[in-house]
Amino acid sequence: MVMPCSGIGKAYGEIGRQATYALMDDLCPDRVTTTCLAKLMIGDPDAVDLIKNNEVITVDGCAHDCARKNVESTGKKVDRAVRVISAFKQHRDLKPAGVLDLGEPGYKLVKILAQDLAQGIDCPVRKED
Ligand code: SF4
Repeated sequence: MVMPCSGIGKAYGEIGRQATYALMDDLCPDRVTTTCLAKLMIGDPDAVDLIKNNEVITVDGCAHDCARKNVESTGKKVDRAVRVISAFKQHRDLKPAGVLDLGEPGYKLVKILAQDLAQGIDCPVRKED
């Protein structure tokens, strides 16, 4: 279970979500799922069950850590908490162009973050490129 923050209006939030989709669709199909953070915030039973019954990685766009805090509000301890900014610090040349269009550097960062998220997940199929 990978829970990205909503990150509306923030490029790093968008990168976290895009990396989650890349992980689900390309790197670890059928092994990774997600849900809407807003559903978790209102206590939707299906979203809470998903969180409580799976290993959980949170992906946050900034130090407010909204995804991690909302997961932990259910009583679940996250298995891994990732901040997009940490990935950026290791690739400072990859500055996203903007929120609506991340640009080539931003999408490269998406790919790098997705690969990082895939580490430690037993993915039966991995498309490297
Ligand atoms: S962690 Fe930061 S970017 Fe993500 S939803 Fe919260 S305030 Fe927005």
